[in-house]
Amino acid sequence: MKKKMANNFLVFLGTGGSRHVMAEQLRSTGGTYFELEGERGIFDPGPGALGQLIKNKPPLNPENLSTIILSHGHIDHCNDVNLIIDSMTRGGLKKKGTLFAPGEIIEGKNQVLFNYLKPFLFSIEKLKPCKQYSVGELNFSTSVLHQHGMETYGFSFFLEDGKLSFITDTSLFPGLDEYYSNSRWLVLNLVLEKNCGNAQHLDIKEAEELLKKIQPEVAVITHFGRKILRKGPEKVADYLEKETGIKKVIAAQDGGRFDLK
Ligand SMILES: [Zn+2]
Repeated sequence: MKKKMANNFLVFLGTGGSRHVMAEQLRSTGGTYFELEGERGIFDPGPGALGQLIKNKPPLNPENLSTIILSHGHIDHCNDVNLIIDSMTRGGLKKKGTLFAPGEIIEGKNQVLFNYLKPFLFSIEKLKPCKQYSVGELNFSTSVLHQHGMETYGFSFFLEDGKLSFITDTSLFPGLDEYYSNSRWLVLNLVLEKNCGNAQHLDIKEAEELLKKIQPEVAVITHFGRKILRKGPEKVADYLEKETGIKKVIAAQDGGRFDLK
């Protein structure tokens, strides 16, 4: 008997990227809530993640979370991770959940995770490049290491209806697209309008190049820097849709829900 298909969706708790957008909260920076194959979790809980969960309509109760995934240790991606762990576990009264994160977030001189919270979690997984992970019915893998000045991963989730990928912060480098090939849905962090220098983020032309190669059914752009916001993310999405021949390119909005079907 075929098992009942899960209702898979994302909620963008924040769509802001870059220091200015974060500092001025031009867009929220709470990362992405997900329900995938029955697992409830949060991806890259930046500043405001806990507040955005609670303020969401309908509210998303942090106590219902069981999975936290971090792509890297920049503050706009991980600031609220300790708060989320404390809220998810009711201050440790209910030991539960798994944190998946680069090792340098978990221990060492750049550690972000508070030591006293570690026993609150059921397990802590240090991510490695190109490795498969699973939690409950949800299977996912890390990408090759991104080029972003610290240990940074993208992710692909292998859902019953197709592959969902997140191209997180990175420079464009040869072979980056290969890991994300055959993605049905692709979420891409588009911080820059135009990359002048060594920002280690993608710009519009680079996003266009990646989307042309990967050709997902639907792409969602998010994690916008100030110039993209000024230009209008919807205009950028329209441009990318026209230039890449992809059926749909969507500009994520704070609190926006994206159903994977
Ligand atoms: Zn970053």
